[in-house]
Amino acid sequence: MSSTDRPRVAFLGLGRMGAPMARHVARAGYDLAVWNRTRSKAESFAQEIAQQGPEQSVQVADTPAEAARGRQVVVLMLADPTAVREVMSGSSGVLSAAEPGTLVIDSSTIGPTVTRELAAEASGRGLRYVDAPVYGTVGPATEGVLEVYGSGEREDFERARPFFDQWGDPAKVRYLGPVGAGSAAKLVRNLILGVSIAATGEALRLSGVLGLPDDLRNDLIETSQLGSSYPRIREIVETGRTKPAAFEMVLLLKDLDLCLREADELGLTQAVREACRRVVAAGHGDEDARALAVRMAEGV
Ligand code: NAP
Repeated sequence: MSSTDRPRVAFLGLGRMGAPMARHVARAGYDLAVWNRTRSKAESFAQEIAQQGPEQSVQVADTPAEAARGRQVVVLMLADPTAVREVMSGSSGVLSAAEPGTLVIDSSTIGPTVTRELAAEASGRGLRYVDAPVYGTVGPATEGVLEVYGSGEREDFERARPFFDQWGDPAKVRYLGPVGAGSAAKLVRNLILGVSIAATGEALRLSGVLGLPDDLRNDLIETSQLGSSYPRIREIVETGRTKPAAFEMVLLLKDLDLCLREADELGLTQAVREACRRVVAAGHGDEDARALAVRMAEGV
């Protein structure tokens, strides 16, 4: 792509997931501006990209508005609904600066209700909006093999597809329907994740109380319905390494809260949410979400 015909993209949020996803965008040759609440992360990212060659450069913006001004596409990869609201609607937010026709791609996990509200606000300003939460963690984000749950107007999804194909395994980039549908699917996926980590935690606890040898315990879990997720939990059980987190426990708690906000009578999710809240309150919020199983087994 020559410098004049390169689509102009803004990427807001360079956390654990945002940084590798933005790296794919930079490597694909887009004219990229980035913004991050903690500016030093955006500066390190820009330096890293600049070292890759003279044609590679990333602009660091002072505000979301500055990043979004004059851009055709604005990508958000932020922690939670509060962050996305602030970045979209705050006094120096995206909505104050993006031009009509700009496509907003929100890959943060914030649930369908907030997504639909923000999409309506964006649409009121003439912007296009696609929610596209992703499933998979830092490794798959780095390798570009995430699952992408995209939704919005079909033509907007197609406009966003080149980004999804950079982030995701093409076989797992899905169009799920009107705006919010992708965010709904993502919550179901993370409910299953949270409940299965907690179920593993209770299996570990009961095994400990009953005095089962570790080998037998591992075999019972590995050959059970929880077997597919156990190897990554077992890694933490055996090494005790709960940090650095790929997916922080506080984000799992946020997702369980989002599930409960969407539907009451999720008794099991409520119980897992309470266990997760206890573990976070005990000071483990910055540990990997898989450590929930270990902390539950310890009786936290
Ligand atoms: P992270 O490493 O904690 O990064 C969060 C990002 O949000 C950072 O850029 C952070 O800025 C920013 N942020 C937080 N609060 C903000 C606020 N009030 N205003 C502006 N910016 C704010 O999280 P992550 O793991 O990348 O996750 C990002 C999203 O993807 C979350 O919705 C998460 O649930 C979802 N997700 C995560 C994973 C995973 O495995 N990690 C996988 C799939 C989906 P600072 O740098 O200044 O803190």
